[in-house]
Amino acid sequence: MTILASAFGRWRKWQPTLRVETLALIASLYFSLAFNGLFWKSWLAGRSFAQADTWLFAACLFVALTALHFILLCLVLNRWTAKPLLGLLIVVTAFAAYYMSTFTVFLDPSMLRNVLRTDVKEAGELFSVGMLPHLFFYALLPLLLLFRIRLRRDSFRRAVLVRLLSIFLALLVVAGSLLLIFKDLAPLMRNNKEIRYLITPGNYLYSLARVLGADASAATRPREPVGLDAVKAESWQQRKKPVLFVIVVGETARAANWGLSGYTRQTTPELAQLDVVNFSQVTSCGTNTEVSLPCMFSVYGRRKYDDDKIRNSESLLNILDRVGMKVIWRDNQSGCKGVCTGVEEHKLGNSKVSEWCDGDRCLDEILLHGLDGILADSKGNLVLVLHQLGNHGPAYFKRYPPAFRKFEPVCETADLAKCSREAVVNTYDNALLYTDHMLAQTIAFLKRQDGKFDTAMIYLSDHGESLGESGLYLHGVPYSIAPKVQVEVPMVMWFSPGFAASFSLDKGCLKQRSGLPASHDNLFHTVLGLLDVRTGVYERSMDLSATCRP
Ligand SMILES: [Zn+2]
Repeated sequence: MTILASAFGRWRKWQPTLRVETLALIASLYFSLAFNGLFWKSWLAGRSFAQADTWLFAACLFVALTALHFILLCLVLNRWTAKPLLGLLIVVTAFAAYYMSTFTVFLDPSMLRNVLRTDVKEAGELFSVGMLPHLFFYALLPLLLLFRIRLRRDSFRRAVLVRLLSIFLALLVVAGSLLLIFKDLAPLMRNNKEIRYLITPGNYLYSLARVLGADASAATRPREPVGLDAVKAESWQQRKKPVLFVIVVGETARAANWGLSGYTRQTTPELAQLDVVNFSQVTSCGTNTEVSLPCMFSVYGRRKYDDDKIRNSESLLNILDRVGMKVIWRDNQSGCKGVCTGVEEHKLGNSKVSEWCDGDRCLDEILLHGLDGILADSKGNLVLVLHQLGNHGPAYFKRYPPAFRKFEPVCETADLAKCSREAVVNTYDNALLYTDHMLAQTIAFLKRQDGKFDTAMIYLSDHGESLGESGLYLHGVPYSIAPKVQVEVPMVMWFSPGFAASFSLDKGCLKQRSGLPASHDNLFHTVLGLLDVRTGVYERSMDLSATCRP
């Protein structure tokens, strides 16, 4: 007891006095050493430490990385802000580093936007007991040290002088060390731009500033209208029944595990029994929901990708609304990401329907709940978008009811690295089985409306997923370097005989087309084509159904 008491007494007395600059330097060194594992692994990949220039390269990188963060800290830290800001930075960075190393994520602006738009439930699912030791060593211990430190007071003039001199020296150090390794660095940066997003915490601070800046400038101007000239084609005058068109936006389903597209396991047994058109070579616009969703409903797409324009323009749904169809976005996830601005939105993720919801989350069949009432109220043509929770990870085991636990053993934790790869894949595949069921249920529902509506459905997943291949988990790797499994997605279409007849659609022809490559960029034009909407922004060459209609 006495030993403990005296140790505690000594700890109470230990209160070193430091300059803010010294503290900033210590913190920068700590960031370089503790939180940049992925950075070191990627930037030094393929080099041998038996060679002297590898050591020089590593040393210069280390000095530049530390000095860069030192400059950043010198710009924001003073005697009053130093402890709270550094404390916050250490905690957030410890979290960020944990996810970066566990799932190999790059914190670029698109990823950060995804993180910022994540709801509390999604964030809660990412938290796991496995991260507690990491947080204890990398956040709590440094915080205890940080709060023992006393900061030295200086006269204002002297403080400013020391600060300016520190920043100037640090700039010289950065320039000098980068110049020394410029020959090696230049090609690395040119061929592999994305690895700068591994510089932690600079990556998320930079991305945060970019996202907030873009959002602030977007908030001050109205959305650009798209397809103001849109009208229904003449064929609509002879149509006997109204149209009910359903777009199911999937989540995190990858083509590699899609039964209909040739996966060795049958993950789509119910759809396989139905007369559907399965597109087996579809690529997504992005590797996360924040990029893919706005992009697939936009006139720009990946071909003319411009994040700012896409976010600030009307979507396909606004055009359908303009030609007089009632459009409803029904959501079981984190919202429509701006796609449904101006149309009706139903948020179902917080429903309390006990058949589908556990008070926290709902299974995707909630999206079909109450549709009879909506249909009974509707008088004309109806477009429903059903936004699934799908295979949203890492808690795949929560995405399906017990009856779909077909592939075993499963991984019943969000800490995927703790499970065998086999268990992770089993759990993911079980969640796909449930999506297959939900889509079959949707088609069954549409069939029941045959007397009243001509019906059709398009299912399209927003992006794929990594399931541990080369150490990667989840999704969101920058598009240019993303593995195929994150960008190859399933797409399925189904048309009632009434719909096909009314729009003179040749399903056999579409089935032939479905074996060829397609992408998210096709959705906008294909839906306009299938629904026979005329507008100058429609491109026939992008319409997958164009050659299958007269
Ligand atoms: Zn997504």
